[in-house]
Amino acid sequence: MKAQDNSLSFKELAEKIVEGLKKHFPQPWSDLNFENPYQLLVATILAAQANDKKVNEVTKEFFKKYPTPEDVAKAPLEQIEQDIRQINFYRRKAKILKECCRVLVEKFGGKVPDNIEDLTKLPGVGRKTANVILVNAFKKPAVVVDTHVKRVSQRLNLTDKNDPDKIEQDLMRIFKKEDWAFISNALVLFGRYVCKAKKPLCHECHLYEICKSKDKIER
Ligand code: SF4
Repeated sequence: MKAQDNSLSFKELAEKIVEGLKKHFPQPWSDLNFENPYQLLVATILAAQANDKKVNEVTKEFFKKYPTPEDVAKAPLEQIEQDIRQINFYRRKAKILKECCRVLVEKFGGKVPDNIEDLTKLPGVGRKTANVILVNAFKKPAVVVDTHVKRVSQRLNLTDKNDPDKIEQDLMRIFKKEDWAFISNALVLFGRYVCKAKKPLCHECHLYEICKSKDKIER
C-alpha cells in the first residue's frame, strides 16, 4: 500500500518519520511536571487550551495542598477555583477537577485506572487525555492525537481525516505498536516546536525530504 500522494509505502514512511523524529527528539518528554498518575491527570485537565509552563507553576502549589484525589473531591469548589485561577477557563476546570476526583474516589478507590475504558469514564477525560496518561504515567502503548499531532499527520499525508479518533486509528495502523508511545510525545513536540501551525521551521526539519506539504504552506 502506498501513502497518499507519496511514492513511499506507509511502512517506509513510518520508518522514516520515526528516524527523523528521533533526530529532533531522541527522548521525547511531556512538558507537564508530575510524579504520579493522579498528578498527571490533574495537570492534563488543566493544560487544555492553556500554557504548560503556567500549569506547572500552578500545580507545584496545588499538589502540596491537594496531595490526593480525596483532597480535591472534598474541597469547596470556590477554593479550587481560587487555587487555579491563573489558568484559562479556571471555573470550568475547577468543576471538572472536583467531579473527576469524586468519581475517581467513588468508583476507583482514588486510584487512576490504567486502561482506556475506565479512564474515559472519568468526567473531563476524553481519549486524548486518557492516552496521555497511558503513555506517560503507565508507559503503555497508545497514540495521543492533539491539535499538533493532527496538523502534522495531515501535513505528512498520514491521514486525510479531521476527527481525532479517526486520526488515532490511522496512526495506530501505520506505526508499529512499539513506536506508539514514542511518536505520541515526539509528534506533540515536533508540532509545537518545529512543524508549527504558523511559520513551520522547514529548513531545520529532519522530515523535509519526505514532506509533500513543505512547498504548500504559507510562511
Ligand atoms: S518540512 Fe515543514 S511542513 Fe513538512 S514536516 Fe517539516 S516542518 Fe512540517
